[in-house]
Amino acid sequence: LDLETKTVVKTKKQSKLFRAALLGNPNCGKTMLFNALTGSNQYVGNWPGVTVDQKIGSVSLNQRPVGELVDLPGIYSLSSYSIEERVSRDFILNEDPDLIINILDGTNMERNLYLTIQALEIGKPVLVAINMMDEVRKRGDRIDCLRLSNLLGVPVIPISAKHGENIDLVLQEACRLSKEKPIPPKVLYDQATYSAISKIQQILAEEENHHKIPFRFYATKLLEDDTACIETLELSADQCRRIDRIIEEYEHASEYGDRQTMLSDARYRLIEQIVEKSVVKKRKPGAITLSDRIDRIVTNRYLSYPIFFCVLFLMFLITFQTLGAVLQGWLQDLFDFVITPGVESFLTAVSAPEWTHGLLVDGMISGVGAVVSFVPLIVLLFFCLSLMEDSGYMARTAFIMDKIFSKFGLSGRSFIPMIMGFGCSVPAVMAARTMENEKDRRLTIMLTPFMSCGAKLPVYALFATAFFPDIQGYVIFAMYLIGMAVAVLAGLILSKTVFRGETTPFIMELPPYRLPSLKSSLKLTWEKARDFLTRAGTLIFAMNILLWFLQAFNFQFQLVSDNSQSILAVIGAVIAPVFIPLGFGIWQASVAVLSGFIAKEAVVSTMAVLYSSGSSDNTALAAQIQSAFTPASALSMMTFILLCAPCVAACATIKREMNSWKWALFTYGYQIATAYIVSLIVYWVSSIFL
Ligand code: GDP
Ligand code: MG
Repeated sequence: LDLETKTVVKTKKQSKLFRAALLGNPNCGKTMLFNALTGSNQYVGNWPGVTVDQKIGSVSLNQRPVGELVDLPGIYSLSSYSIEERVSRDFILNEDPDLIINILDGTNMERNLYLTIQALEIGKPVLVAINMMDEVRKRGDRIDCLRLSNLLGVPVIPISAKHGENIDLVLQEACRLSKEKPIPPKVLYDQATYSAISKIQQILAEEENHHKIPFRFYATKLLEDDTACIETLELSADQCRRIDRIIEEYEHASEYGDRQTMLSDARYRLIEQIVEKSVVKKRKPGAITLSDRIDRIVTNRYLSYPIFFCVLFLMFLITFQTLGAVLQGWLQDLFDFVITPGVESFLTAVSAPEWTHGLLVDGMISGVGAVVSFVPLIVLLFFCLSLMEDSGYMARTAFIMDKIFSKFGLSGRSFIPMIMGFGCSVPAVMAARTMENEKDRRLTIMLTPFMSCGAKLPVYALFATAFFPDIQGYVIFAMYLIGMAVAVLAGLILSKTVFRGETTPFIMELPPYRLPSLKSSLKLTWEKARDFLTRAGTLIFAMNILLWFLQAFNFQFQLVSDNSQSILAVIGAVIAPVFIPLGFGIWQASVAVLSGFIAKEAVVSTMAVLYSSGSSDNTALAAQIQSAFTPASALSMMTFILLCAPCVAACATIKREMNSWKWALFTYGYQIATAYIVSLIVYWVSSIFL
C-alpha cells in the first residue's frame, strides 16, 4: 500500500505542468526567449512596448511537455500606470503562476534589478535569467552570477536568448523550482524599512480572507501608497488606522519624509550594493558608445529628417521598383502561363460546361491569383520593416518624429503604433496601449488606420501598373506619404477639438543599436506571407466565388452574357452615385470598395473578377482598368482605399480597444469622412494636372 501511494504521488507531480510568467523590463529580450523556448513566432522588436498583451506557449524538455510560459509586456516596476503595465502586474498577482522567470538585460543591471527586488517580494519562486550575455562579454563586462545568486537568494542563470545560450538550463531550473516550496525572501532593506514592512505584514495576515495574498508585497505597496493596489485589499477601518500609524513612524524616522521616495531610495541603495559586489564594468559610466556615435548623426537636428526620408524611400525602392517587381513578375507569369492555361485545357479536355470556365478561371484563379502575385511585395516590405525595427532605428524615428508631432499636439509615442500600421492595423491599434494618457491613446487609435497597411498595397500596385508603369514605386511611395500627412493633419484637428488638453511629454528609452537577428526577421516575414496566403486561399477565395455568381447571374437567376445586367451591377449601381464626385462612380468600383471592408486584399481580387471577362492575366486586367478609370480617378480611388475605415478585423479591434460603441462609430465615421474629403481633393487637383 505504501508503495502504491508513493507512485501515485510521483505521477501526479510529473503530470502537473508548471506555469511560469516571464517578467522583465521592456526590451530585455523576453519575447525572444519565449519564442526560442516555445517555438512560437511572437513579435520581437528593438524598442520598448512591442508586447502589449500576454501570450501563452507550452514548453517541453526531452520531448516531454513540462509547462507553460506566459510572455508579458515589459514593465519597469510593479506599480501600475499604463494598460500594459497593468496586464503584467495583474497576471503575476491574480493568475497565480507557479514561478516567475525574471529576465534582466545584462548590459543594464542597475535599472533591471529594480523590478527584480519587487518580484522577490511576491513570495513566489523566482528564477533570474540574465540575458544579452553576448553583449555583456563584447563590452568586456563581467557578471558574477554565483555571487548575485547568493545576494538575491534565488538561482541566477546567464543566457543569450538570441544565440540560444543556456536556454535549456532555464527550463530545467524552472522545472525544478516549480516543484519546490518558495523560500521566504531574504531581508533586503535597511532596518527601518524592513521593520515597517514586517509590522504591516502582520496586520494584513490577521484578516482571514487575505490568507492567499502575498502579504509582504502588499505591505510594500501600502508603504509606498499605491492606491490601485490598496483598494483591492478592502481593509477595515481599524487596520487602516494601525497601518497609518506605522507609516507615520516610518516617515518620521527618515530625513526625506516622503514614503515613496524613501522606499525607492531603499531599493536603489540595495541595488547599488548588489551591483558593486557582482558586476564588473570595463567601461566607465558616461563613456561614448558606438550607439551614441551613430545617434549623433541619425538623430542630428538637421540630418535626421533627410536620413529618415531616405531610409523609407530606399525601402520602397527595394520593395516595389526593383526586387519586388521582378519577383512579382515571376509569380504573375506562373499564373498567366502555367496555371490558367493548364486549368483551361483541363476543362476543355474533360469537356466541362462553359460556365465552369467562368467560375474557375474568372472567379477563382484570376481573383486569388491577382492577390497572390502581390505576395512578394508584401513580404519584402515586412522584411525591411522588421530589419528597421530590430536594429533599433525604428525607436529613433519615434524620437525624431516627436519634434514634429509635438507641434501638432501629438506625442512622439504615437508614431510607433503608426509605423506598425504599415504592417497591419490590428496589432498597431493594440500597440497604442503603451500610452499612459488615455486621451493620447484614443487619438492614436483613431489615426493609426490612416497608415497604409500591407493589404492595401496590392490596390496601389494594380492601379500604378495600369496608369503609371514607369514611376510605379514613386506613386506608391506617395500614397504612403499621403497616409502619414493625413494622420498628422487629422491629429492636429482632433487634438484641437475633441482631444483638447495637455499632451504628456515623450519619454522613451532609446535601445542600443543591434545587429538584427536574421532568423527572427525571416520567421516574422514568413509568418506574414503565410497569413496573407491563408487569407487569399480562404476568405478571399470564398468571396470571389460569391462575387462571381452575383456578377454572372441576374435577379431571375439566368446566366447573363454582360455582367452589367447582373445582380451585383444592380446593387453596385445603387451606391455608385456616392462616388461620382470622386471620379469613380461606376458599379464595379463601388463593389470593390464595399468588399474592401471585409478585407483590403479583396479590392484587387474583386476588380479581377469583375473586369476579367474571359481572360485571366493581370496585363489584361490593367488594360480593362485603363479604359474604366482615368489617371485622376485612379489616384482618387487609391486615396479612398488608403484612408477609408479599415477592414472588419481592424474595426473590431478598434471597438475593443476603445471599449465603447460611441467612440468606435465616431472613429469609423471620421475615417470615412476624411477619406471622402481627401479623395475629392486628390481628384480635383490631379484632374488639373493629368
Ligand atoms: P522584449 O521587449 O523584452 O520582449 O524584448 P524582445 O524579445 O522584443 O527583444 C528586444 C531586442 O533585444 C531585439 O532587438 C532582440 O533582437 C534583442 N535581443 C534579445 N535577446 C538578445 C540577446 O541574447 N543578445 C542580443 N545581442 N540581443 C538580444
Ligand atoms: Mg516582448
